[in-house]
Amino acid sequence: MSKSLKSHISIKHNNFFATKILTIFAAQKSEKMAGKITLTMIKPDAVKNGHIGNILADINNAGFKIKAMKLTQLSTADAESFYSVHRERPFFRDLVDFMTSGPIVAAVLEKDNAIEDFRKLIGATNPQEAAEGTIRNKYAVSIDANAIHGSDSDENAQIEAAFHFAGRDFYNY
Ligand code: ATP
Ligand code: MG
Repeated sequence: MSKSLKSHISIKHNNFFATKILTIFAAQKSEKMAGKITLTMIKPDAVKNGHIGNILADINNAGFKIKAMKLTQLSTADAESFYSVHRERPFFRDLVDFMTSGPIVAAVLEKDNAIEDFRKLIGATNPQEAAEGTIRNKYAVSIDANAIHGSDSDENAQIEAAFHFAGRDFYNY
């Protein structure tokens, strides 16, 4: 066998093992994150009303770590896709119009039992039913303009995090 063919085979071999190792690391990383993250959006009403700082303080004080975060604005196509499970609901158009009406803060938050604990922190969908001290109780205006979003399952948290962020947007600290 020629020298160059030998070295070609050895490079291919090394690439194969490198890919395998990276795949195993990636799987371990996503397993570690499962059940530990949620995706939030501080909605246009809360941003416009100057509540970003107070809401982030509540989030930090409740023990959530911000892993990725940005100020951004959803396009109509973004909002339709993000809330596509509600496509057939009568409030869908209003929801899309509201979510595109101004900037939002999107963030990935980490904590044990993240989904359930965060839903508890934000309170019921309708702020009139949200428990005292919850984010929606303190900052939401109405059932449409209800200040904040929280993922409803581990699976959706992964999908929603990938909707807003790339791998390089996440920080460990
Ligand atoms: P979010 O997904 O934004 O965190 P949620 O999980 O509490 O809210 P969903 O049932 O997922 O509630 O509804 C998505 C959004 O649609 C709600 O935040 C609310 O603004 C709106 N919505 C839900 N139900 C109604 C309704 N009955 N009337 C009007 N708007 C509604
Ligand atoms: Mg929801």
